[in-house]
Amino acid sequence: MRLFDTLTRTDRELRPIDGDTFRFYCCGPTVYGPAHIGNFRTFVLQDVLRRTLETGGTRTLHVRNITDVDDKTIRDSQKAGKSLTDFTTGWTEIFHGDCEKLACLPPHIEPGAVEHIPQQIAMIEKLIEKGNAYASDDGSVYFKISSFPNYGKLSRLDTRELDLGKTQNARANSDEYEKDSLSDFVLWKSRRAEDGENFWESPWGEGRPGWHLECSAMIQEYLGDTFDLHSGGVDLVFPHHENEIAQSECACGGHFAAHWFHITHLLVDGGKMSKSLGNLYTLEDLAKLGFSPMEVRYVLIGAHYRKPLNFTLDSLTGAREALAKLAKGARALAAKTGGETRFDTVDFGPFQSAWDSLENDLNTPGALGGIFTGLRQSANLTGGEAAKALAAMNRILRALGLTLPEEAEQEAVEIPAAIRTLADERWQARTEKNWAKSDELRARLTAEGWTVLDGKDGYSLEPAAR
Ligand code: AMP
Ligand code: ZN
Repeated sequence: MRLFDTLTRTDRELRPIDGDTFRFYCCGPTVYGPAHIGNFRTFVLQDVLRRTLETGGTRTLHVRNITDVDDKTIRDSQKAGKSLTDFTTGWTEIFHGDCEKLACLPPHIEPGAVEHIPQQIAMIEKLIEKGNAYASDDGSVYFKISSFPNYGKLSRLDTRELDLGKTQNARANSDEYEKDSLSDFVLWKSRRAEDGENFWESPWGEGRPGWHLECSAMIQEYLGDTFDLHSGGVDLVFPHHENEIAQSECACGGHFAAHWFHITHLLVDGGKMSKSLGNLYTLEDLAKLGFSPMEVRYVLIGAHYRKPLNFTLDSLTGAREALAKLAKGARALAAKTGGETRFDTVDFGPFQSAWDSLENDLNTPGALGGIFTGLRQSANLTGGEAAKALAAMNRILRALGLTLPEEAEQEAVEIPAAIRTLADERWQARTEKNWAKSDELRARLTAEGWTVLDGKDGYSLEPAAR
């Protein structure tokens, strides 16, 4: 398959360097709270990449870390009055539960930063030895970016912005910083009062690793100097991935990742998600509104990964309708097989365009459209031909990680008059594009146990518990 590479800005063929297994690394979650659906856009797309490679017959090795020590995990574990381990273990379990609900395959290896402190210290020692890092008076260690002429190649910080000479005295000690504060970044942070009991012994005194280092150390441990692909959300291009390249290429002398796969951010109501705007959704929040994880997954793969995805509650209703249509189409096809079954065939038949979309820069919306086209083209197939088409459709669904809903029970449901009135008011607000009011009315209907499904010319109501 072909995929866009952030470093070269070109579509490139994905092929395992070792000719056998496609070995890739994804920056994992920082476990200090529940992951939000933006995080899951990234994790779900990484999962579709893996599933597509595997569906195409390529073996994979998927490594994704858990960030269980950094500024935020330490700060919030203290607020919660818990030890860092208890705190991060709890959030890691919740993350695993959400991944399972969303049908994300567990990575083959999932290393945690705390377990790999010795490897991180060893990498710092190497960097100091090679002249790429230095210890400051307080026992912190910094990476000297002026020692790495390639610094900035991934994010294309060109010479206008990147005057390495000017960075000599600038240092960043916090884990996250912005592009305009380009500076030497911290590899080891000397112990501070606010760290409490969270410190480790090192040749430079007590302290803890900086956030950027863990991925470089764990990649070296599990994937070696060079590997097939590295991935994360776009916010990680700078500084995190730039810093990883600097650390790893200087310490290991390798070429680090052969390919960079970055997923564009998910937006909510056209803007950034934030707690203060009340538009930061977790899987649990959406479940309370009556939406299933599969509906969320459908929305997350509904846009191309290089384009922003604008999330709305209405898009979840659309996903529900689309999944129901696909399920209906699959049942109609199954009914025409006359009991014949086929196992995976190499030939995608009417679903070839869906597969081509996936192989062409992981075009997930194209693949979804291709499934609907494939179903239309399969309308007149019967017997073995219908069975072959059904097997092909199921392969595409597996690559996308989608499971179709079972047939809903066809009982007539009586809708109380008060509910009907609320729903009418909501439809009115919606036609007037009063999104705030329409969302508020939807929330009230949900609280009453009803889900609204919007169509082009009207709405329908379903009891939420399904
Ligand atoms: P974090 O837990 O903050 O380290 O983030 C986990 C992953 O989610 C990283 O790959 C981030 O780049 C990614 N991410 C964060 N916010 C968003 C968003 N709004 N849309 C897509 N990916 C995101
Ligand atoms: Zn990372």
